[in-house]
Amino acid sequence: MGFFGNLGEIFKILKHVFRMIFKRPVTSLYPFEDRYYPERTRGRHIHVRHACTACAQCVRACPVVAIHIDKEDKMYEKDCALTFDYSRCIFCGLCVQACRFDALFHTPVVDMSEGDREDLIYGPDKITTLDREPLKWRGRRFR
Ligand code: SF4
Ligand code: SF4
Repeated sequence: MGFFGNLGEIFKILKHVFRMIFKRPVTSLYPFEDRYYPERTRGRHIHVRHACTACAQCVRACPVVAIHIDKEDKMYEKDCALTFDYSRCIFCGLCVQACRFDALFHTPVVDMSEGDREDLIYGPDKITTLDREPLKWRGRRFR
């Protein structure tokens, strides 16, 4: 088949190329533009201290031993401090499912790369929220 025999295919390709030229880009200028993540994305956690009962069910549910609990560190009557090691966490969501007191949630924040493994250990200063309406708060970007 010569050149003229392939004309149909060539026109099909050109049509596709022109359509793509005038389409909006599908990429975004990350990290300068925030990406949209669905609400149920399993990203980094928030720990709602006033709802926590220090039951440690989240710690027991974690298959990779990524959560450390400190029952001595109290802000309220029954709560505890949690530390997450994100160099181990596989974002399976089992800890959030295990919490029967609505004290642990995922956020859609997944961009947490660090230059040092130690910096992936997020203590109570990064995980805790004192917000009493965590579900409203959930999903907002935080650092
Ligand atoms: S999301 Fe899974 S791996 Fe990560 S801390 Fe929770 S239970 Fe452990
Ligand atoms: S976050 Fe939930 S599961 Fe974990 S210790 Fe607190 S109440 Fe228990």
